[in-house]
Formats: sequence, C-alpha cells, structure tokens
Amino acid sequence: MSYDPENIFAKILRGDLPCHKVYEDDETFVFLDIMPRSDGHMLVIPKTPARNMLDASPAQLAACLATVQKMSHVALRAFDAQGITLQQFNEDAGGQEVYHLHFHVLPRYEGVSPRPPGQMADQDLLKTHADKMRAALDAG
Ligand code: 5GP
Repeated sequence: MSYDPENIFAKILRGDLPCHKVYEDDETFVFLDIMPRSDGHMLVIPKTPARNMLDASPAQLAACLATVQKMSHVALRAFDAQGITLQQFNEDAGGQEVYHLHFHVLPRYEGVSPRPPGQMADQDLLKTHADKMRAALDAG
C-alpha cells in the first residue's frame, strides 16, 4: 500500500482543487468536509504524505491530534456545540475512501443525530460555516 500523490486531499493541499479552509499551521491543514455529517464537520490532515494512520509517523499523528484538539475547542465555541465526535478510517475494509490521512471532527448537538453520509452541502452554507470557524479562531 503506497501513497498516491494524485488523491483528492493532496490536490487540495497543492491548491489544485478548491476547499473551504479553516486553519493551517506548519504541519497540518484543516478544511470543511464537502458532505458534512454535522454543521462544522472538519477534516484535519497532515501537510506531508501519509496514506492513513497505519503508515503515518508518530510526529504526523501527534501534529494532527494537537490540531484536532485545538479545532474541537474552536468548533464548540463557533457553533455552540455540546460535544465532538472524532472519526478516522483506514483502508477500504476500514471505511476509508480518500487515501491521505485524515481525522473527521464532527461538532455534535444534544439530541441531533449525524446526517447520513454522501449528502453534498450547499457551497454558500459551507462558506458561512468556514467564516464562522475562522472568526472564532481569531477571537481566541
Ligand atoms: P473517508 O476516507 O474518511 O471515508 O471519507 C472521505 C471524506 O472526504 C468524506 O467524508 C467525504 O465527504 C470527504 N470528501 C471527499 N471528497 C472531497 C472533496 O473534494 N472536498 C472535501 N472538502 N471533502 C471531500
């Protein structure tokens, strides 16, 4: 199992495909999932290649998890969420569809179930959500 530099998230990282970016630092990049299972559903990825958790270095995993924690707090503030669900899939049998390591961060709301997978979000709504998240980030 090797890393394919033509995967969708690699293209997003190179700027070859658009995304609703929320945050980046030296090691990680955060953007909204195009088919969000909850309002504010983010994807946290390393900037360097890793197919998934199985071939990632401890440093890549540590950097991603630090960003996951940071962005979880931001999402709680930005969306008045009451909880966070973290998901991460590895290989086809594990439910993985895009082969660049990523962590799903789903803000969760009391009494609200996640939406079914595969529902494309309205782009204007995603933009509003990304703006909201970045504003909460800037507000500290
Ligand atoms: P997974 O590999 O974790 O099973 O699923 C990949 C995730 O990436 C899905 O939640 C899907 O909605 C999301 N996704 C797939 N293609 C794109 C894309 O082009 N842009 C964004 N922002 N998300 C995508």
